[in-house]
Amino acid sequence: MKKISSLSGIAAFLLCAAIVFTSFKVYNDKTPENSSEQNLNQHSEFSAHSCEKEEWGFYGHRMINRRAVFSLPPEMIGFYKKHIEWITEHAVDPDKRRYATKHEAVRHYIDIDIWGTYPFENIPRKWTDALVKYTDVYVVNSRLDTLHLVGHKVMDVDKYKMTLRSKDLKKAFRKDTVVVYLNGYNEFYKSHIQPQYYKDEMLVDCQLLKDLFKYQPLDLDCDNAFAIDRFSKYGILPYHLNRVYLQLVEAFRKQNIDHIVRLSTDMGHYMGDAHVPLHTTENYNGQMTNQVGIHGFWESRLLELFNEEYDYLVGRATYIDDTQEFFWKTILDSHVLVDSILSIEKRLSRTYPQDKQFCFENRLDATIRIQCEDYCRAFHEELKGMVEDRFTTTIHSLSSVWYTAWVDAGQPDLSELLAAQEAERGIFKNKDDEETDKSFKGGVIKGRGHSN
Ligand SMILES: [Zn+2]
Ligand SMILES: [Zn+2]
Repeated sequence: MKKISSLSGIAAFLLCAAIVFTSFKVYNDKTPENSSEQNLNQHSEFSAHSCEKEEWGFYGHRMINRRAVFSLPPEMIGFYKKHIEWITEHAVDPDKRRYATKHEAVRHYIDIDIWGTYPFENIPRKWTDALVKYTDVYVVNSRLDTLHLVGHKVMDVDKYKMTLRSKDLKKAFRKDTVVVYLNGYNEFYKSHIQPQYYKDEMLVDCQLLKDLFKYQPLDLDCDNAFAIDRFSKYGILPYHLNRVYLQLVEAFRKQNIDHIVRLSTDMGHYMGDAHVPLHTTENYNGQMTNQVGIHGFWESRLLELFNEEYDYLVGRATYIDDTQEFFWKTILDSHVLVDSILSIEKRLSRTYPQDKQFCFENRLDATIRIQCEDYCRAFHEELKGMVEDRFTTTIHSLSSVWYTAWVDAGQPDLSELLAAQEAERGIFKNKDDEETDKSFKGGVIKGRGHSN
């Protein structure tokens, strides 16, 4: 077996293994005789045979961030090299934040197939547009009926207007259909509902709601009203990428070293997740096709074994004309690979000798059941370079995104910035980091842990 060679890699893997051990069934050295016939149902018991909770593994994320530095142009590479240890070490901070805030988990994936079929043109590429489309608004009338007024399942939308056609409309307006103009509704959403995005409950003011219909005129029976975001829980990764990107541009503009380093590091993590096909599907861990565990098998186990064989000459960073489109393309490019991964693993698990698929390995004084190296090799070869391609593409994409942000910010002189920075690396270790670490060690993901 090829060993993970770097020290940080080993540390990362051990940390990762520790998480697996606390969350999943582990055998002690007196492993019970296991049936040589391992069927797929048994497979499900061992869904975290590697670091699937950590996406590409801690090791993978760190390597992406580290290697991306070396594809930067001369004007940038000095600055990034100066901070390379921090950028490497903190590549998994966003995963740790999932333990600190419930809003973090959804930033690491998008179950895009929930919303339609490839190329998913029905999904608004802009964040607010997606929220407007997939947020339901309910009214409670004077008789305390809860009426579903607005939402993508109860309205037709064209270029300028939404035609509401909920069966509840009669109770709200005594009409079967009601028209709302999109401009007005979008404004109402942005100014009134969206600011409440991070609250547990989004309340809607009856008068503001009534104002939407005042030209018709319609009498809305509204005692109180509320909104429910139906979108975010299925993942917001492409939108979050764009958000972090814009923040990074701003950090370059303001020449804020702390923010540049932090946001570059975070960007690396989310770009890593976006290149993993199983981060773009509802069937993210094969749970819908009796292939539980495939998430970690693809993104962690194969990488752990074979990363040293990859060709890392990814070339110099290139400028990206439209970053929003680029992030979406990354997600779509990932998504088209989902079917191949699932079908190849399904075929292989049926044809490969059953008793040679899983092995036992000792890690941290415990024995874990994990895919055997030869079985991994067979899967890796059947995938025909897919893991290598997605992994090395991530490195080039990340470098290009950093470069594009710097260009879009007006190419600030980073060597000057470096010269001005006499402060020690410790400036990045602030209270937020400590809180994140504490929550991470506490151990419960808030919101859905994507891959288990
Ligand atoms: Zn993952
Ligand atoms: Zn992640």
